[in-house]
Amino acid sequence: MAEPIRVIVRVRPATNEEVGLEVEGEEIIVSFGREKEKTFIGRFAAVLDDASQGDLFEEVRPMVESVATGFNACVIAYGQTGSGKSWSMIGDISRDEDEGVVPRAVRSLFSSLEGPEDEWQVHCSLLQIYGERLTDLLNATSSEPLRIRETFQGQQRELYVSGQSSYRCGSADEVLSLVRRGLASRTSRATKVNENSSRSHAVLQLVVETRRETADDGCQKHELSRSKLYLVDLAGSERVADLYSSSSSSSGGTLPHKDRQFAEHVSINQSLSALGNVVAALAEGAKKRPHVPYRDSLLTRLLQDTLGGNSRTAIVACVAPDATHADETTRTLRFAERAQ
Ligand code: ADP
Repeated sequence: MAEPIRVIVRVRPATNEEVGLEVEGEEIIVSFGREKEKTFIGRFAAVLDDASQGDLFEEVRPMVESVATGFNACVIAYGQTGSGKSWSMIGDISRDEDEGVVPRAVRSLFSSLEGPEDEWQVHCSLLQIYGERLTDLLNATSSEPLRIRETFQGQQRELYVSGQSSYRCGSADEVLSLVRRGLASRTSRATKVNENSSRSHAVLQLVVETRRETADDGCQKHELSRSKLYLVDLAGSERVADLYSSSSSSSGGTLPHKDRQFAEHVSINQSLSALGNVVAALAEGAKKRPHVPYRDSLLTRLLQDTLGGNSRTAIVACVAPDATHADETTRTLRFAERAQ
């Protein structure tokens, strides 16, 4: 039986006075309008309102720690632009208490590996999906899109990205300096080729290989295990029509440029809806929905090894409490609800 996806809702601090959202324990109620119409009432594994970065990490710590013992795990931040996805995943790396899931998970992973005497290796990659293009954020010189391919380890099918760079790291600090470098190149690339980085997905991949020696009836045996931790900051989930109308009124760009942007936005929304279909199929279980549509988007293919099967997955659904965002907040919560 696959593990259920753990859905954590995180409410960011309000920016205006009219708050359209109430939290009571694990229940969340969204209402807006003159009559305070309720648009959503739901329950989740955890609802974090006014919570610290440490509180959020505690919700995902067990699955991150399980990677050192051979499980795959994936933490995904979902929500509209400005709802706190990057804050939740990265936070402020210069202040310990404000570090997000990525730095905390990386440190926790290395401290779980340091204990055992086994030999271990950690490899790190950082990828971006923009539109239907997969690029390597740790190899700024290559602008060639990467391709996902399949390989077999015995009976087991595994996906890999051909041509991606993968760095062997001996400490959490080495991983975090690569993350800083990759995110800086994401921002500068966005400016250079006219991308909007809040419309791209960023996927940090850590692959852990351990080699354990065991003695069985006097024979020395080597047990090899390979597991993956993926940490994902998704593109903003806001509706494409809204974005397009605001960009057409403000950017003043030429039409072909806007057409290209529009196509990119449509493809980003398609990849998020493909992700919604995959997590919904996983939530319904193999009996009811034997087919999980991983192949419907580049995003779901890339994440496939850490979604479903015996992988452990968490979705951090980020929402803004302001009444003006009630529509997008409701859409985010509906997405989150389908996953559980
Ligand atoms: P997103 O990645 O979803 O576009 P950000 O993480 O960039 O959104 O958040 C937008 C702004 O709100 C940032 O300035 C961020 O620092 C702030 N913010 C978001 N969530 C929180 C939070 N829980 N506590 C404090 N500040 C937050």
